Amino acid sequence: MRLFPRLFLGHLLVTLVALGALLLIAEVTAPSFYRHHVEQMVALLGPEGRELRPDLERGMRQTLNLALLAALPFAVGFAAFAAWLTSRRIVRSVRLLGEGSRDLAGGHYRRRLPETGRDELTDLAHNFNVMAGSLERVEQDRVALIGNVGHELRTPLAALRGYTEAMTDGVMVPDQAAPAIGREVRAMERLASDLSLVSRVEAGRVELHPTTFGAASLLHAAAERFGEAYAERGVTLTVQEEPDAAQVRADFERSLQVLSNLLSNALRHTPQGGQVTLAAETAGSGVRFSVQDTGHGIPPEHLARIFERFYRVDPARTRGEGSGVGLTIARGLVEQMGGQMAVVSGEGGSTFTFSLPVALRSEGLVPIGGGVTT
Ligand code: ADP
Repeated sequence: MRLFPRLFLGHLLVTLVALGALLLIAEVTAPSFYRHHVEQMVALLGPEGRELRPDLERGMRQTLNLALLAALPFAVGFAAFAAWLTSRRIVRSVRLLGEGSRDLAGGHYRRRLPETGRDELTDLAHNFNVMAGSLERVEQDRVALIGNVGHELRTPLAALRGYTEAMTDGVMVPDQAAPAIGREVRAMERLASDLSLVSRVEAGRVELHPTTFGAASLLHAAAERFGEAYAERGVTLTVQEEPDAAQVRADFERSLQVLSNLLSNALRHTPQGGQVTLAAETAGSGVRFSVQDTGHGIPPEHLARIFERFYRVDPARTRGEGSGVGLTIARGLVEQMGGQMAVVSGEGGSTFTFSLPVALRSEGLVPIGGGVTT
């Protein structure tokens, strides 16, 4: 049987049972209530009254029965109407939910259900809408990802085609084209490895090898890696270490990758003569690392989006400089290591900060100034 008749008949049955019980109880208990009035009338009528007592009692009972019989059809009618209304509301919600689920299964992620009322069915509709919203975002993300990857591949592929055509037409000799071809191939390799890493980072599946190390050792390793590039570009790189900065418990290589990413961005966005400061300080249960530059900064309307995959503030100007996933990877790695990343930026430059957990004594905490320990 369909849900509506089942619910309707169920409601009606319950009401009819309640009505039957009401009639029965009224019949059984009513005499004890009207007996007092009968006694008063018998006393008023004197000796004749005693003979009239059975008639009086019968009259009372008949009046009660008539009243109950007259009320019964109305009571049943109202009960049926209420049962119909309630059943219809429940069935409508269930039907909408069924249709909505079918639409979602068919890939129509825009489908939403009305959220009217305050009961569990409204909660169900609300949860359905939240789920549909998440699925819609995932789908939009998937479509955007495919579009972005295609877009990122198009530039190096177009360049490669240009070089091969130039060689075929004899405009370029292989020796001339080889370095440029190598550059484009390396860009594609970088993109492929960035994409593979970003997908692992977003799924939280990067393999980590946590060790205990001093914050200063990480700062120096990063500064050493970039010293030459900074000197070449005429940007000063300063390391500011807190003498008693705590020991960190994280994957050293991945932490270095995060710092390198921030230092590479800072270098790219800071003009000659500018300054970049690399620092670490203990803050609560973590060590806060920061990379502060005196570059052109990030406009406020872009700031909230720079950690998104493939998001670039000025795509035309920065084409070929990076794949736009560096910060996505950096933030994902930091979060997987138990920290957080943030940025503040203005016209005077940008400061990227990220925290990493302080090592506990049981995790091999060594005296301040000690080297890398595992
Ligand atoms: P990309 O590979 O393009 O550098 P990222 O994810 O590392 O990608 O950075 C995203 C965008 O954030 C960059 O394209 C750039 O516009 C902006 N950005 C990142 N770091 C800085 C910085 N230090 N100063 C100014 N803009 C920055």
